[in-house]
Amino acid sequence: MARSDWRRLDESDVRVRPGKGTRPRSKRRPAHADASPAMVTAKDRGRWTCAVDADPERAVTAMRARELGRTPIVVGDRVDLVGDVSGRPDSLARIVRVDERTSVLRRTADDTDPYERVVVANAEQLLIVTSLADPPPRTGFIDRCLVACYSGGLQPVLCLTKSDLADPGELLASYADLAVPAIVTRHDEEPTELRDRLAGRVSALVGHSGVGKSTLVNRLLPDAGLATGEVSAIGKGRHTSVSAVALPLPSGGWVIDTPGVRSFGLAHVNPDDIVLAFPEFAEAAEECPSGCGHLGPPEDPDCALDDVVKSGEARPGRLASLRRLLASRAGLDVL
Ligand code: ZN
Repeated sequence: MARSDWRRLDESDVRVRPGKGTRPRSKRRPAHADASPAMVTAKDRGRWTCAVDADPERAVTAMRARELGRTPIVVGDRVDLVGDVSGRPDSLARIVRVDERTSVLRRTADDTDPYERVVVANAEQLLIVTSLADPPPRTGFIDRCLVACYSGGLQPVLCLTKSDLADPGELLASYADLAVPAIVTRHDEEPTELRDRLAGRVSALVGHSGVGKSTLVNRLLPDAGLATGEVSAIGKGRHTSVSAVALPLPSGGWVIDTPGVRSFGLAHVNPDDIVLAFPEFAEAAEECPSGCGHLGPPEDPDCALDDVVKSGEARPGRLASLRRLLASRAGLDVL
């Protein structure tokens, strides 16, 4: 695609094509042919916790092999381990390879780090937890999460909590044109549908405090002792902020919580990447003037996306929703 040519690339970029179940290898070195595949479940400074064969029972602490230099390795990364992969106390394996990522979530730059960085790799979906009341839903936050999903290659899923306090109809209607899957929960009912949605998948989780995210996680992960144990195992008693941690679900699959992430980085997002998530507009976007932000008049008076609606090939609501997302990139919502 032509837009790839001028798009800025970096080490954490991905060619996003969701649905691929394979594990592409960027660099296969014969020297490590006997390496063990693993998934990174937590990270703390120079140490990573990895689950060998993505088996939560086989947790191994690992360091980054010298040959990888400063290659970023984040929670959700699929890696290859050599050395002591027994997982015994004080054992240390080495990460010798990092697989190409199928998706990425970036956090925003903040006071301690001026760069947007990938915090979660390879999550299939992002569960956007929002309460219907107390506190009221923040659609700007939801929109920015959607942009992060569309640009990073994740399937967004709305999880609307506290439906015993307010009706979800209005909020669901405002996202109907985006066809985002939605799950409605309430505190006095088991989150059965949510459980089914997460089973066997790797899902990242985001939500403001007070929306009931912790309550949900505790219900999904009744064995909270295991989760806590994993976090403290990598922290070695130090009080460090954990930016993301993958927790195994009883039914298979993983939930990746992002407690230290205040909001997702969107500064890098190219408007064209968002348009790609709306197939009916992708072709017309090629006709837009160079650098078109696709917001329409007055910002982008010659945007070709309006023609798609005028010709009847797309519903006006789809374009309005797409433009709302594009506009939301500029905002900042602190978790
Ligand atoms: Zn345009």
